[in-house]
Amino acid sequence: MNDIRTTAMDHLWLHFGHIPSEGPIIIERGDGCYLWDSDGNKYLDALAGLFVTAIGHGRSDLANAASKQAETMAYYPVWYSTAHQPAAELAAKLAELSPGDMDRVFFTSGGSEAVESAWKIARQYFLARGEPDRMKIIGRETAYHGTTLGALSITSIPPIRAPFEPMLNQLVTHVSTTNQLHCERCEGPCSLHAADEIEAAILEQGPETVAAVVLEPVQNSGGCFTPMEGYWQRVREICDKYGVLLISDEVICAFGRLGTWFGGQKFDYVPDMITFAKGVTSGYAPLGGVITRPHIAEAFQQADELVWHGITFGGHPVSCAVALANIEALEAEGIIDHAAANQDLFRMKLESLLDHPNVAEVRGTGYFYAIELMKDARNMVPFTQDEASALVAVLKPALLNRGLIARADGRGAPIIQYSPPLIAGPDEFDQIVEISRAALDEAITGLSS
Ligand code: PLP
Repeated sequence: MNDIRTTAMDHLWLHFGHIPSEGPIIIERGDGCYLWDSDGNKYLDALAGLFVTAIGHGRSDLANAASKQAETMAYYPVWYSTAHQPAAELAAKLAELSPGDMDRVFFTSGGSEAVESAWKIARQYFLARGEPDRMKIIGRETAYHGTTLGALSITSIPPIRAPFEPMLNQLVTHVSTTNQLHCERCEGPCSLHAADEIEAAILEQGPETVAAVVLEPVQNSGGCFTPMEGYWQRVREICDKYGVLLISDEVICAFGRLGTWFGGQKFDYVPDMITFAKGVTSGYAPLGGVITRPHIAEAFQQADELVWHGITFGGHPVSCAVALANIEALEAEGIIDHAAANQDLFRMKLESLLDHPNVAEVRGTGYFYAIELMKDARNMVPFTQDEASALVAVLKPALLNRGLIARADGRGAPIIQYSPPLIAGPDEFDQIVEISRAALDEAITGLSS
């Protein structure tokens, strides 16, 4: 084992990882859609790091933007009465790119902080409006919204919550996802019952106590659940009817992941707040934030109230400069248009896996897809929980050993999930399909032997 692997094994905590009994793979270098580890192995990064590296790896323009900003002014906070040029310019750019009249940005260092910040802003918004009981959140089952205690209260993944359950607040209700494959309520195409459940939850909780509905445009956890036609319009209508804020958690779905800048352009809605992170900098520096519509800030102004919330590194100048360079390059090189133009081809290639006896569904949109795996996909026979866990455990190395970074996951039904850099094209799609098929064959054979 090389030195770095031993050092990592001895000293690093891996997020969501066991204390390693063998050294982790050390990823050393990236270029475009590809990564290399410290043993010289090459991987196709079909997960964009962790839904992050939209623009691809190895961009010297983004590295130069970071270095130039660090030399000019490495750090100053966006705090009390001070700001700086990169944060101001980036906020203006995000206002320009986001849907509708969204016009103001609260920066954080990442996605969990963005979700917590949105919740706290919602709370203060209602305090400022004289509605102090509005604190509750409606989220969705199986959804992931982060791990800090506030965000974790909205996350609905039992094993991630379990050790902390007594520390989580009781202000969140979870309703159904838009998983249409396993819907037991509809014959044929799904109705809008998943949206109507949000209304039922608001009524059950008492509309005067509900602050916000928090949803992803396409839900990641569980495997890329896309909305039914009209879902977002119905959710918007329900939120307006009961005076509840609509928070679109776009930590994954923004900055081209769905082939548009934001979910609102994909599904034609304007939320009250958008939470973002990941793709805003393509991962060349950490950043997240909340974009808000004017009425949110106006409530603070009218009550002459300040935001009782701040984060030292929120809106870090280096991160904001990197985000500006990232967005400039995404625009100038037509990278989001490229993803939009190639998304149908990506889907078509993935759909070629549907002839595999264990592939039950291909779902997603843009450059964000999952395939759902079943024991007998033709007859819709699912794996048992034990089989699914065993399958995922074998699939992970089977994909990696063939040089593909994709996510084999079992937080609902077993899936393989893909979210390649937005510069990926036909060659990468072919590799994804070929390797997934071979890895799946290996895993299924291993499972039945
Ligand atoms: N919200 C969503 C939808 C996410 O997918 C994630 C992370 O994957 C988060 C929030 C939390 O973001 P972070 O890991 O940057 O805290």
